[in-house]
Amino acid sequence: MKIGVLALQGDFAEHLAVLRRLGVEAVEVRLPGELDGLDGLIIPGGESTTIGKLAMAYGLMEPLRAFGKEKPVWGTCAGAIFLSKDARRDQPLLGLMDITVQRNAFGRQVDSFEVGLDIPALARVSKKNPPFYAVFIRAPLIESVDAPGAETLAKLDDGAIVAAQQGRLLATSFHPELNDDDRFHQYFLTLVDG
Ligand code: GLN
Repeated sequence: MKIGVLALQGDFAEHLAVLRRLGVEAVEVRLPGELDGLDGLIIPGGESTTIGKLAMAYGLMEPLRAFGKEKPVWGTCAGAIFLSKDARRDQPLLGLMDITVQRNAFGRQVDSFEVGLDIPALARVSKKNPPFYAVFIRAPLIESVDAPGAETLAKLDDGAIVAAQQGRLLATSFHPELNDDDRFHQYFLTLVDG
């Protein structure tokens, strides 16, 4: 199994570290040709406008769309925005997932926060399935999950959607690569395997 991490901007190094800790071959992706032979791709957090502009400059938009139609792709935070079909403003988006996101949805006072989330889907990789400690940094909300085949994986107490899945595509508002709980990465790998 070989997983790519889009390495244009943002915290790609942290995702690579988790994948390698799990014993998976993981490589940086900056050019279209580097998608060849990959079994899945992670798009990291960072700044979604910057990631989009760089993806355009490197000729990656269409290759990424084609890849996402065939193979598992997971976007964390800015990566989730980039995967979405609508971010309520004009910026390059892959439009692979039928979700609408709202950028920087938590306002200044709560720029960053951490919260334990119940994520039933993670029972697939962890029998006991304790809460997942999720780190949010100027995070987007998933305003709506807009396709019959798409599902909500996690919500905050107030009902705000922070993780969604559509077939082999995953979006999380938070950053599972920033703690040492690898369950979300393991979950993504089950999509790659299956
Ligand atoms: N606020 C960033 C954006 O809108 C996302 C932040 C992040 O990835 N931690 O692109």
